Amino acid sequence: MSTVDQPVPAPVIARSTDPLGVEVPSTVPTHWYNLNADLPEPVPPHLHPGTHQPLTPPDLAPLFPMALIEQEVSTERYVEIPQTVREIYAMWRPSPLVRAHRLERVLGTRARIYYKYEGVSPVGSHKPNTAVAQAYYNAVEGITKLTTETGAGQWGASLSMACSLLGLTCEVWQVRASYDAKPYRRFQMETYGSVCHPSPSDLTEAGRAILAEMPDTTGSLGMAISEAVEAAVKDPEAHYSLGSVLNHVMLHQTVIGQEVLVQLAEAGERQADVVFGCAGGGSNLAGLTFPLIGQNLREGTTTRSVACEPAACPSLTQGEYRYDHGDVAGLTPLLKMHTLGKDFVPPSIHAGGLRYHGMSPMVSHAVNLGLMEAVAVEQDDAFAGGVLFARAEGIIPAPESTHAVATAIDYARTAQEGEVILIGLSGNGVLDLPAYSAYV
Ligand SMILES: *Cc1c(COP(=O)(O)O)cnc(C)c1O
Repeated sequence: MSTVDQPVPAPVIARSTDPLGVEVPSTVPTHWYNLNADLPEPVPPHLHPGTHQPLTPPDLAPLFPMALIEQEVSTERYVEIPQTVREIYAMWRPSPLVRAHRLERVLGTRARIYYKYEGVSPVGSHKPNTAVAQAYYNAVEGITKLTTETGAGQWGASLSMACSLLGLTCEVWQVRASYDAKPYRRFQMETYGSVCHPSPSDLTEAGRAILAEMPDTTGSLGMAISEAVEAAVKDPEAHYSLGSVLNHVMLHQTVIGQEVLVQLAEAGERQADVVFGCAGGGSNLAGLTFPLIGQNLREGTTTRSVACEPAACPSLTQGEYRYDHGDVAGLTPLLKMHTLGKDFVPPSIHAGGLRYHGMSPMVSHAVNLGLMEAVAVEQDDAFAGGVLFARAEGIIPAPESTHAVATAIDYARTAQEGEVILIGLSGNGVLDLPAYSAYV
């Protein structure tokens, strides 16, 4: 039976953005950190797709609630996390910062290796950090439904969970190839009460136009974004939600790095000397590293941040730094970013969450200013690192995360005595075991 025809069970919890009044441990951060406050040059503004002028808040109002539009351009250093969001964060935050003693021994490294593990969230990745915040601000503004796109399904599952917790409905366009080949995250989305369509679909003008031209296409994130944006614009009660790339998403993810600053100090470390994070749209990397880069800029620490991207979709290391659209149809604003071009269809690699033609404008800007470095990793090398990590530390990293793991392992082999290496372990790989099986 097609899921499109099934009635969606109503969300269990009535919409409530009021705090429950439960006590939130003081170890859950109270503020997100905004790198825009400390950058030597401001991030280039997003441009209107028609006029090519800087976007104004009313341009974005059909898609996003005003609170998120303000966060998109904010230069305030700290933004308070709403109490309702902190209560939900407290279900799995602070996430653990773990010393990888066994991995150190296996490698015979002279460095100390730590990993920050976001796989403890209910869906197994960092993505709920922004999904919960976005659902919250939309619910406060009276929106009843969110639309979005998803590739392998991590973002669709995260937003579905956030919507069910905050009493919103959720409609997801999933890239056709993943919809057919990887049904488990769709089952997750449906369990949370969402409706999930394969993209391209015949439900939107964008989808019908793509199908008329390419009836057999397996879809792409750029196509699915076009469909989800169109559906939101046409429904006055609906907004659209993006899981990475935009400035407000980077902001929400800084809860990761805010915790790391405290946890490293508790572990007796003055600083992380080098941090490795995987980069698709840039959000887990930004979330982990921006608070540390801010500390470099304000306090003179010398932490290096390294973006690890797939060699098959190398926007930072091979793309051009220029204005480009976020989607195929050209409906989204123009973003100044490292891009492989909006029509680039990445090869089908296992790390579905890293298959995006562009990159966060804030991460792109940080790389351009020399505040961050970037490397490209071959898929086989990434999996080799992931398997080594799993056999030493027990956790099977998400295929995306293995790009950071493998680069860190490589670095650790020749590291200096006492160097502190930090790995962003953005998620676990338990729903991606077929990819590991194919490698092993
Ligand atoms: C989606 C995803 C990524 C890539 O997205 P970013 O915005 O670059 O963080 C990385 N790791 C995991 C586990 C993911 O689910």
